[in-house]
Amino acid sequence: MSSATAFYPIGTPGVPWGEAEKAEWLARQVRHRSYAEDVLARVDALRQRFDVEQYGQLDYAGERYPLYAIRNRGWRDGLPTVLVTGGVHGYETSGVHGALQFVERHGGDYEGRANLLAVPCVSPWAYERIHRWNMHAIDPNRSFRENSPAGESAALLQLVAPLRGRFVLHIDLHETTDSDESEFRPALAARDGKPFEPGEIPDGFYLVDDSENPQPAFQQAVIAAVEPVTHIAPADANGQIIGSEVVAPGVIRYPLQALGLCAGITGARYTTTTEVYPDSPRATPQQCNDAQVAAVRAAIGFALEHPAG
Ligand SMILES: [Zn+2]
Repeated sequence: MSSATAFYPIGTPGVPWGEAEKAEWLARQVRHRSYAEDVLARVDALRQRFDVEQYGQLDYAGERYPLYAIRNRGWRDGLPTVLVTGGVHGYETSGVHGALQFVERHGGDYEGRANLLAVPCVSPWAYERIHRWNMHAIDPNRSFRENSPAGESAALLQLVAPLRGRFVLHIDLHETTDSDESEFRPALAARDGKPFEPGEIPDGFYLVDDSENPQPAFQQAVIAAVEPVTHIAPADANGQIIGSEVVAPGVIRYPLQALGLCAGITGARYTTTTEVYPDSPRATPQQCNDAQVAAVRAAIGFALEHPAG
């Protein structure tokens, strides 16, 4: 977009998209990278040390995307269960690669202490297109609810349903990118027939806690572990990050379940959403992956040390 006031190039200002506009949007999406090469090959390599399970499949115009979950060995009913999810937004690369790196290097560390369930790439079609939405122009991360219109969300909900009540932790790995402001927020406004109101992308890492179940000590432990790896986002001039009050350094809160967000699906005592900033001149891709891994390890460590709060 040449300026913040220019309208998104699909649709009519003030009119929500219909099928024609969604088809026009879809025709513009280009496959940039391979889920099979980047993700499935690494998941396959984990089969020797972990239990790998296909929990669903997306069938998008003849293209099939099998969905995989990874469990550590030695699952027992009495152990606390932890969930790590990445790639709910497929374009948020370090969410996917951070989840894989965590499992590869540290997933075995919790055997006998916790049941680990990891889902590294919830939305593979969008991973390949470097997009936020699925093929139907739906954001999976506003769709974690009953009768979800997003196949990605419905499949993950089904995987997690039998384990609800046993989770002590869920950490969902995301990024906040410059393309949120240049592409995805304008597209969202256009899709819904609403005006686009420019915002500010925070420079640094932050977390989203649950306003219905705030856990400040837990969030602080995660921030403290990430800070040596990548810088924490400061509050803006209004004391906010992306329009929400900063309640502690690098922490904002959303009502996770009401918004249909992934981090609200388990009912765990400890939940958080990481937001890595990959577009900073001060952050390399490897640093972003390392920040996700540091966050996951700190989150699991805290949850196992404070199982009852
Ligand atoms: Zn995201």
